[in-house]
Amino acid sequence: MFFLDRLDLDRRFRVLRGELAEVGIEEELRGWSFEGGLIRPSSDILLGVSELASRYCPTMRDLYLRRILGVRPPPNVKMTRGIAFHEVCSRVVHEVKRMLFENPKGVPGYVILDRLLHQAEVIVDGILMRAEGRTARLKPQDHAALRCEASSLYRFLVIQAAAKVDQALSKYPHATSDSIMSIAIPPILERKVDGSLVGLGRELSVDIYTPYNAVADLKTGEVRDFHPYTVTGYALALEAEEGIPINYGIITYVRVRDDVPRFRIRCFLIGNELRREFLELRDEAYTLLEVGRDPGKPPRCPRYCPYHPVCIGEMG
Ligand code: SF4
Repeated sequence: MFFLDRLDLDRRFRVLRGELAEVGIEEELRGWSFEGGLIRPSSDILLGVSELASRYCPTMRDLYLRRILGVRPPPNVKMTRGIAFHEVCSRVVHEVKRMLFENPKGVPGYVILDRLLHQAEVIVDGILMRAEGRTARLKPQDHAALRCEASSLYRFLVIQAAAKVDQALSKYPHATSDSIMSIAIPPILERKVDGSLVGLGRELSVDIYTPYNAVADLKTGEVRDFHPYTVTGYALALEAEEGIPINYGIITYVRVRDDVPRFRIRCFLIGNELRREFLELRDEAYTLLEVGRDPGKPPRCPRYCPYHPVCIGEMG
């Protein structure tokens, strides 16, 4: 996550701290209150965070199709892009860490650039092969376009990483690789969380921005109103498992245009309203799955709904 700027985040979180002090978060909406009240799941069914949070469909027909009829959304290029971009981001962090581990006295930025830019094509091709393996083989023109986008993102992140390592080395000439890593690499911890205490999956993968215990999420498509639900689900699961407050969310939107990645970062309070709405979605999903009946289509189905080809297209 070399696109996150610590000073910028610090400034945003200072503002959010003020908001939190003003409005507060109700105790009964904290994940650790899972033994009763609103948080307690009324069913043994465990739901995926994205099953609840990806609210393209207001009637939850997507959930009915997936869970009752066993129909998965047909793969599309957006899904492949999402998987590929995530892997590009974590791969660059992994490679830079590895180089620093291998060289306890530090590695100058130009060495990082040389090594990682040289490997760009091999690494990106491997990432695309795995992403297509998890979704579907893309048409040649889509594959070529995504390869360009993923390569641009990869190169951009490598250049940022090399510059950050150089800045750290220049400022602290006697620092070890360990210290350089903690200065140059944004403090994002990826961890597994058992969400079953709040009715979510047992093995959620959550990114945490550790200075503020904020849950981070990366999105590769358009901005949608329902996106904050994803980090809300993760926050409830973490609070339940760890008993620590998770007050903030970060969503980063990344798009590549004209060979240049552009980032839009949204930081927000995971407040009472978001928590209530997420829990309402969970409870609505329980009812739908218990009844097992088709909830029908909404008056208008968004074209970007992943189930559009199933409900409306040739298979509908
Ligand atoms: S296509 Fe329409 S009915 Fe089907 S899941 Fe999407 S929004 Fe719901």
